[in-house]
Amino acid sequence: MSLHDVLSAEAEQSEYARVVAKRIGELVAERINTDGFVNASDDDLRNMALTILALVMNELGDEALSSASDTAKALGFGKPSAKALDHARTSALKSNVNRLYSKLEEARANAQKSAEKNDGVISASLGLGITAVLAGAFSDAAQGLATDLPVELNGAMAAGVGTKAAGAAAVAADSAAADVAGGDLLDALVGLGAAIGGFAGTATGTLTWITRSDDSVCQEEGPAVTTPSGVVMPEGAGTSCEGRHGITLPAADWISEGLPRDARLLCSRYNRPRCRCVVSATADVPTSPMNIAPDIALGKARGEAEALDLTDAHLNGFSVAATGEKVSPDLWNLTIRVSKRAAPALVTA
Ligand SMILES: [Zn+2]
Repeated sequence: MSLHDVLSAEAEQSEYARVVAKRIGELVAERINTDGFVNASDDDLRNMALTILALVMNELGDEALSSASDTAKALGFGKPSAKALDHARTSALKSNVNRLYSKLEEARANAQKSAEKNDGVISASLGLGITAVLAGAFSDAAQGLATDLPVELNGAMAAGVGTKAAGAAAVAADSAAADVAGGDLLDALVGLGAAIGGFAGTATGTLTWITRSDDSVCQEEGPAVTTPSGVVMPEGAGTSCEGRHGITLPAADWISEGLPRDARLLCSRYNRPRCRCVVSATADVPTSPMNIAPDIALGKARGEAEALDLTDAHLNGFSVAATGEKVSPDLWNLTIRVSKRAAPALVTA
């Protein structure tokens, strides 16, 4: 299978995961008791956020990482270690749980204000409003998690190239990662690279940018940027994706100027980062930016056609919520299973 095919397949899988995650978020929202939500404690909200994203991780995480691993191999990074996969998981989960928790706090405060105006009664229309807000919040967080996983892994593998180039084996990167249990893998790897001089301009390991364009590829006018090792990036390539395609730089330069989805990129500054680009450890990349719009359309159609069923709710293996029953705070810390989704055939390089 060619690199082009692997990158197309990953784009399709990522979009599928995004759409299914969004739908799971909407289905879970329908199961939430709105009175329970308005009166929930902070701990209840934290449990809720974790439970929902754990459900999505359970459903889609392995497929997302398996597809991302195939991509990593095709991009010349080798097979990701179990530790690298773990850290990609933790990192993606942590940022999305925190974001979801903040949104839930805000939604609860708004709902409490509305209920107070109505003598504490949660009217039917307020209940519907709460369910709609929860559906949006759950869906956003679940989509974020599904699409962050492959990006986290690509970023971690890219950072690892810098450390390898400076003579440190992947083992060193792994142990640095292990040192920051719960911390940010990318920060840890970048820190390690800096400590051993890998990112001081001496690295021989290079990375080549591959732009995958869909309807949201970014390109802006901007000054030429000089990287830390002295390479002049053409106009626009400093802050946007389109002009970056095919540019090969020392890993340290990319880490400094921004890996795919960096907050400084134009696409990140306008809305939730949807950058589809990757960096490759092999310079043998497609000659022009890849148009993955057709792959995205396929993934979307497959995600929308997937049969989903969340009626099967368990607490420690015991069924606690009958069909149609809503879930209250004391039951939020439960496992809701998606019982109907069929795991798709995985792409193997
Ligand atoms: Zn991009």
